[in-house]
Amino acid sequence: MTSPRRKKVLISGASIAGPTLAHWLSRGGFEVTVVEKAAAVRGGGYPIDIRGSALGVVERMGLLPALREAHIDTRRITFLHPDGSPVVTLRPEKVAGGVHSRDLEVPRGDLTALLHGTVRDDVEFLFGESILELHEQVDAVTVTFRGGAVREFDLVVGADGLHSSTRGLVFGPEPQFHCYLGHCFAGFTLENTWGLDHEAVLWNTAGRGAALYAAGDTTTLHGFLMFSRPEPPFEAFRDPQAQRDLLTTTFADDGWEVPTLVRAMRDADDLFFDVVSQIRAPRWSRGRVALAGDAAHAPSFLTGQGTSLALAGAYLLARELVSTPDHALALSAYERRARPYVEANQALVGPGDVTMHPRTPEALTARNAMLRSLDSLPGDTDRPAYSALTLPDFPSGAGPLGRP
Ligand SMILES: Cc1cc2nc3c(=O)[nH]c(=O)nc-3n(C[C@H](O)[C@H](O)[C@H](O)COP(=O)(O)OP(=O)(O)OC[C@H]3O[C@@H](n4cnc5c(N)ncnc54)[C@H](O)[C@@H]3O)c2cc1C
Repeated sequence: MTSPRRKKVLISGASIAGPTLAHWLSRGGFEVTVVEKAAAVRGGGYPIDIRGSALGVVERMGLLPALREAHIDTRRITFLHPDGSPVVTLRPEKVAGGVHSRDLEVPRGDLTALLHGTVRDDVEFLFGESILELHEQVDAVTVTFRGGAVREFDLVVGADGLHSSTRGLVFGPEPQFHCYLGHCFAGFTLENTWGLDHEAVLWNTAGRGAALYAAGDTTTLHGFLMFSRPEPPFEAFRDPQAQRDLLTTTFADDGWEVPTLVRAMRDADDLFFDVVSQIRAPRWSRGRVALAGDAAHAPSFLTGQGTSLALAGAYLLARELVSTPDHALALSAYERRARPYVEANQALVGPGDVTMHPRTPEALTARNAMLRSLDSLPGDTDRPAYSALTLPDFPSGAGPLGRP
């Protein structure tokens, strides 16, 4: 008697959702391939938060001790008036919610490296490659890769981020899912000539903000520039020079340290420019193709919950696929379980929500008064949405039955 064939899954994207899904599917007996368009797992990057329900995912993956080691421990955030004078200095939990002694803030690259490390030896990685075409057959998906290879998989999952091309291939163009929140931002690294240490400094004027973020490294800072704009600057999306020019023009007349930040942005070789947007898709799967992480449900970086949703959503997707041999039933169960948690977190910000990034002088005055009032609050201010998901157990010893 031959043993049943292992189900083959292709995951597009090797950032956070992709390797997490790969880890749990591989543990559940699937044969996993991950395709990533970058030449390697993308390291470096800004600090990300892991909070509430998502902590259980990294704990079950055995990553909690290493992540606690990598914890940045930002101690204070200072908000500044347009002239650079201080509004108030607060502990981060008072601004973003969360529990200081429990939640994690780690460099994004540390998390992606750790996640990749859990599956490196068990999963096939195709770097510098991406999906060109997908054709669903009755019992498989035929995938044509850009490099020319054609292969068959039982399932394909798009974990390729906010601008997911897997979603584009299967569900259609991005605008129907893209909920623009009215801001654009740029992130880049610059030299820490200010002596900042485990802290962030945020400057705002109406419609524009700039930040310096010392994430546990005394020599390098993360710089951010963010501005309001009624429509996304589509013309700048694929053009780094247009992004640099747009940022330079937008911040041309600003004071404080903004001119230094703009100069650093122009010289940076790691400039990251994007819109502040959510992905709201009515369905996260069609046939044998599913979406995970930001590709399915980006909450926008204003929520600080993108990473937590990517971790928890990927865990749930794997759990359902491993528990239920019928992929259609498994994919419905994934959505049923994950949606309330995702929606609670997406609701932390919404169109017109300008609380933290006010567009008018009046709104800026109101925000500053709100921030000063937070100073007198005692202790942590956890948000129910962060822990809105009770993680189900992962089936022990479960293995999927593939096609014979
Ligand atoms: C500046 C900034 C600050 C943020 N701050 C926070 C924060 O404080 N806390 C927080 O929780 N979240 C934060 N986020 C959001 C968080 O990084 C994302 O929500 C999270 O990384 C989602 O992970 P993901 O794996 O779904 O997608 P991504 O991290 O976007 O990864 C997608 C992967 O797919 C790859 N890819 C893309 N297209 C293709 C293709 N066609 N073929 C193959 N591979 C492809 C990409 O190279 C990438 O590796 C921030 C985001 C930004 C930009």
